[in-house]
Amino acid sequence: MTITLDDAQRKAVDHSTGAVLALGGPGTGKTRVLEERFVRLATSETTPDRILFFVPNRTQKMALQNRLTRRLLIDEDLDAVIEIPVYTWHAFAYHLVSRHYDKLDYSEPPVLLTSPEHWGSIRDALGREDDVNWPHHKHLLRNRGFVDEVVDFFIRVGQRAMDRPELEALANLQPKWFELISFYQRHHTELRQRNRVDYPTLLRDAVELLANFDDVRTSLHGRFQHLLVDDGQELALVQQRLLHFLTAFTTDGPGDRSLVLAGDPDSAIETFRGAEPDWIDDFAKEFGEHDTVTLATSYRLGPELGAAVTGLIGRNDARGHRPEVFAGAATLEVKRFGNLSAEVDAIAREVRMAHLNDKIPFEDMAILLTSPRSMLPPLERALDALEVPFSVNAPDRPLGREPIVRAFADLARLAFTDDPDVDVVAELLRSPLIGLEDATVRELERVARISERTLTEVIEDPPTLADPEAGPKLAELVELRDLLRSKKDAPADEAFWVVWDRSHLCGELQERAERGLEDPAHRDLDALVAFSRALGRFVERRRGSGTFTDYLDAIGRADFGSDPWLPPERSGGGVNVVSFHGAKGKEWSIVAVAGVVEGSIPKGRRATGLFDPYFLDETDPISRARKNEMEDRRVFYVSVTRATQRCIVTTSPGPTRRGEPSRFIEELTGDVPGVELGADLPPLTFAEAAARHRRILADVTAGRSERIAALAAIARICEVDPTCSAAQPSEWWWRWDWTEGAIPIRTQQADPDDDLPPDKLRTSYSRISTYDNCGLQYLFAVVLGLDPDTSHNMAFGSVIHKVFEELETGALPVEPKAAYARYDKLFEEIRNQFPNRAMARQFYRDGQVMIERYGKHLRPGEAAKAEVGFRVELEGHRITGRIDRVDERAGKLVISDYKTSRHPVQFNEAKESLQLAIYHLAAKSDPELTELGEPGLMQLLYPGAPLSRNEVANRTQTPEQAEEAITRLPALIEGVLAEDFRPDPEANCQWCKFKPLCPLWSEGKELPA
Ligand code: SF4
Repeated sequence: MTITLDDAQRKAVDHSTGAVLALGGPGTGKTRVLEERFVRLATSETTPDRILFFVPNRTQKMALQNRLTRRLLIDEDLDAVIEIPVYTWHAFAYHLVSRHYDKLDYSEPPVLLTSPEHWGSIRDALGREDDVNWPHHKHLLRNRGFVDEVVDFFIRVGQRAMDRPELEALANLQPKWFELISFYQRHHTELRQRNRVDYPTLLRDAVELLANFDDVRTSLHGRFQHLLVDDGQELALVQQRLLHFLTAFTTDGPGDRSLVLAGDPDSAIETFRGAEPDWIDDFAKEFGEHDTVTLATSYRLGPELGAAVTGLIGRNDARGHRPEVFAGAATLEVKRFGNLSAEVDAIAREVRMAHLNDKIPFEDMAILLTSPRSMLPPLERALDALEVPFSVNAPDRPLGREPIVRAFADLARLAFTDDPDVDVVAELLRSPLIGLEDATVRELERVARISERTLTEVIEDPPTLADPEAGPKLAELVELRDLLRSKKDAPADEAFWVVWDRSHLCGELQERAERGLEDPAHRDLDALVAFSRALGRFVERRRGSGTFTDYLDAIGRADFGSDPWLPPERSGGGVNVVSFHGAKGKEWSIVAVAGVVEGSIPKGRRATGLFDPYFLDETDPISRARKNEMEDRRVFYVSVTRATQRCIVTTSPGPTRRGEPSRFIEELTGDVPGVELGADLPPLTFAEAAARHRRILADVTAGRSERIAALAAIARICEVDPTCSAAQPSEWWWRWDWTEGAIPIRTQQADPDDDLPPDKLRTSYSRISTYDNCGLQYLFAVVLGLDPDTSHNMAFGSVIHKVFEELETGALPVEPKAAYARYDKLFEEIRNQFPNRAMARQFYRDGQVMIERYGKHLRPGEAAKAEVGFRVELEGHRITGRIDRVDERAGKLVISDYKTSRHPVQFNEAKESLQLAIYHLAAKSDPELTELGEPGLMQLLYPGAPLSRNEVANRTQTPEQAEEAITRLPALIEGVLAEDFRPDPEANCQWCKFKPLCPLWSEGKELPA
């Protein structure tokens, strides 16, 4: 097979001995050079098993191994290939540590702890710690957030391969960290004694072996003659050290050995994993004399896009390796939209058109999102509306979230827990494994309530139910549960197969899967196979002794990211929806880079923790901020260089509706484009065409012939696609507009004794903020009073506020004991309002943390005022409310509102907060407040959120920002009075309880396209 390489690529491929640094930008063929070198060496100089190839992750390892095997066996005609040593760094280190465990004082090959297990081991160890070892942080030892911070610190220490003297030096620099560093050393000794090793320590152990044991080093030098490293810019210090000892060029000279390390410092985006992008500049320090090959031609980017991205990344620093020739075809388009729905709709149209007109497969396109959580729902709606298939590639998505896998985990919880959570049992009943209808589950819950039994007890002895199939299904559930119980001590994978084989679903899925590849049964079966593999690996790593209960215990801790032993999510086909980081190392024909707004990219301020691991890298806040921005610019650079044909960058005000185009857009193109005006675009689906014709049909101002033509077109669509419900008149339930009442709701609800004229509104900030989010949500929640089960949240908030208030007003003595006692008493009164005991326990603990932080950080008893009621008039309208706390600071008032959420809002949201702006207005106009002084700052305080710089997290608004935010108020009041209660397509629907009633959501039926 003939492969064409350019001169620079050829030079790296043909290099003889010693080290070579192959630098190149996106699309210059770095990975290809390494692969070609592997093939050349394996076919002409040595055997494949003597070439060690490092790649960054397991997915790349599998793909590369497959490609190389094919190349060697099929294209190069090799008779047999025994081993192709492609490794991830951790896999290689584990191989080494398991083999030479005795040299590291393990008594047997250590068990590798996964990330959740590592977290759990630190949590348990902190729980056992004696308070005297923690003079500064003893009150935090059992706090989840604190465990996270300690884990972060451990990881960073591992990535930097810090040894004892370095840790001691750190303790001298940060005396408050001394107790943490001592704990770190104790914990590691304990893990080693128990033959356990965590991921961060694994690489350090491998370095220790190579650095201190000549025989290990020499044998590896003999075994691997050539080394290849991909993505070299992402190496953490510990990986650099490992590579240093693997080559030992600076001490022993290269001999007949070689190293080719390929990288692009501009694409280094994993500093959160310990990567040090600048280390490549000091390559000679680790590997001595070397050649540098610059891959100067990008075969992916076209000239215009190439010049734009070079200008962008050039703002970070000057580097000589950037491509000079752009021989690819990728072009750049930047579009700006007036709102998020227009943005996602335009993207959906672009991919649909590219598929229809240019025949580009959906799988060969990608949409990269800055903030997947908030952008995904509207994007999914837009893609669904245009019938664009897509799959959300979230590599960190735990397998446990697959419904079928979750059902199995829930079955195990039912089998092995004395008092299983009622929600878990109800979820299991509805799951595909059992398959009861919602109504039947509710019937069972009702029976349980009336007969004062638990749901589990009712399942054991069920009544006659309305659904005749429910009885056999419940019987199967009990049978499966008992079967699993009987396998309590069996390895988890064996127990799984026994139960799975017995379930009716097993046969059903297999039967359905045989009907065709399109059947969703394939997805469930894939998930189950992956689950069984995950269980297999879990058992294997415990030397065959991991039971299902052990597994549940481990995944129970995994609520903070992926389970590393689980396989990555399968792509379900269709357009790939990925995060910016997830796009690294990949390419597609068309890439839409969406949501490019300030605050998302660049991210702006990062939260800083108690033991901020960042401190280990950078102490100066200004240069830290600069480094953050440089990294964000690299992330953007990586995203806009993924397309081989078209890169479409889009921006809009985004989910907050107030976002500004990212500064990176201007850096990329020299200016920010104007907002695209909605054009009359051709319909792309039958449903869209039918909707368009229906609009003409319903338009009484349209000409007669035009309406008749529309009717004929709808009839034709019915003929061509009888499944198109948008063209079926019987389905047009929505052709009636919103029901107009004869009397406005306000008039119906008016209080005859009210002193406000009927055209004026009485409201509160929380009500008007609801309207600010969405008119329909306001109608349901405020006007119709339908706000469902938020009672436990509200009750909990009242309890916390009450304790704070009593401390502030002197009703309680300012001492922790009194505060906790009062809290306990108040909490007892609301305990029954929580849906289940687990939730009540969690809230109770959260409350304790809040009270503790209040006492420590918020100067109890020192407020100028607490719980101040206010009333402001604005153009005759009346807004009332309460302010939690007013302090005087430097002659100005600081107005605070306590929030019991653990997740603070974005900084920008606080700056534009209507609530804080109304407080500002109140402080300027309410007599009780004006006499205290001028407002200087408004803030939301989050005593339940992780501490920020060792202080309670807050989000602030200045008086100038308040003046700006309050200008939105009159239009909102007008909207309420005009009873404009339409759902807002850009609303933040994340916590809205009315989705089942909302026409914008599939639960409440979609609006016509
Ligand atoms: S789901 Fe969203 S659009 Fe619908 S009512 Fe709730 S907030 Fe409004």
